[in-house]
Amino acid sequence: MAKNPNQLCVFCGERPQSKTKEHIIPRWLIEKTGDPKRQGRFAFDFNQGRPVEFAFDQFTLPACQSCNEQFSDLENYAKGVLTKLESGTALSEVDITFFLDWLDKIRIGLWHGNLRLTGDRYKVQPRMFIQPRLGMHDRMVAIYRSPVVSQRINFVGHDTILFQHIPSCFLLIINNLFFFNMSRDFLFARRIGFPYPTQLRSKGWGGPVEYFLTEGIHRIMKPILKTPIISPCLEFYQPNAYARFVNANPELYSRPYVVERCLDWRGAESNVLVGKILTSRPDGKMIFLNGEYTPEQQVLTNVDDYSLKITLAEQTLRHQLAMFREILQYEYEDVSVRHKMIKLYEYGKKQNGILIERLRNGNL
Ligand SMILES: [Zn+2]
Repeated sequence: MAKNPNQLCVFCGERPQSKTKEHIIPRWLIEKTGDPKRQGRFAFDFNQGRPVEFAFDQFTLPACQSCNEQFSDLENYAKGVLTKLESGTALSEVDITFFLDWLDKIRIGLWHGNLRLTGDRYKVQPRMFIQPRLGMHDRMVAIYRSPVVSQRINFVGHDTILFQHIPSCFLLIINNLFFFNMSRDFLFARRIGFPYPTQLRSKGWGGPVEYFLTEGIHRIMKPILKTPIISPCLEFYQPNAYARFVNANPELYSRPYVVERCLDWRGAESNVLVGKILTSRPDGKMIFLNGEYTPEQQVLTNVDDYSLKITLAEQTLRHQLAMFREILQYEYEDVSVRHKMIKLYEYGKKQNGILIERLRNGNL
């Protein structure tokens, strides 16, 4: 009997042994940001043409008890890091790495929730689960601080058609902090001097992608992201890659430039190459962190809470489009797959365009 993906554990993708419910937005965060019974908008139902809304504490997915327990450590860690970010105290590389893991978890959790709530119009099967996806690709977070401190949690970009197909970019708002988060394979590898693909070949619809890598340029190019983001902000980038890329291209990854900028470049323990954290100093210089780091306040001046929200929401929708455009550059073995991707992109472009227009008209 085929597995129904809606019944699988959101962490490991298996049938839950001892089934529990995982809160996609963890309880501690729901409580920190307001009344747990308040309504949230978690998806857009394309069949019904309306948003899907219900109480925050009802937003759950199935999970194994053991997976749930395992991930509660990450929740505790993230909670501590969030407190440090709020107060502006020192962070370690480990803090930032765990926080990026946690953002991966929330982003993929929202994606699963979204697919299960939208009536499956586009037949996207959630083949990717939280545990195997955590920390596997280049990832970044840009943190912005609003002058207004209010209790809230919001997401932007989690309910678009582009996110359904590529759940790689979203905005999370927690009280007065805004987290712009992205993660994709080789998102900024080339621009930070790491090996990068010159050619990608897609095997089929939703199938594996073959990468042809080349030597990195061994220096940092600015901006780190091809589509730049609004600055100043507190920004962290971590280059990660599957260990199989390292094993298939040992000559590219064993260069001192790469080795010196990795925490675990062979990926021996975790099946992944883990890069050091890259950040920007207030003078604009990009540095790889070594040990403790006290973030200096980098605040956008003359921006009120409302404009910050609108601007960052627009940034999120634009980056989703830019990412999808890059995927259209792949070489597709099956031409019909490429046509399908173009059609999706056109649809997503229209949808994100409408959302951007609404934002500009003050409708968030
Ligand atoms: Zn599980």
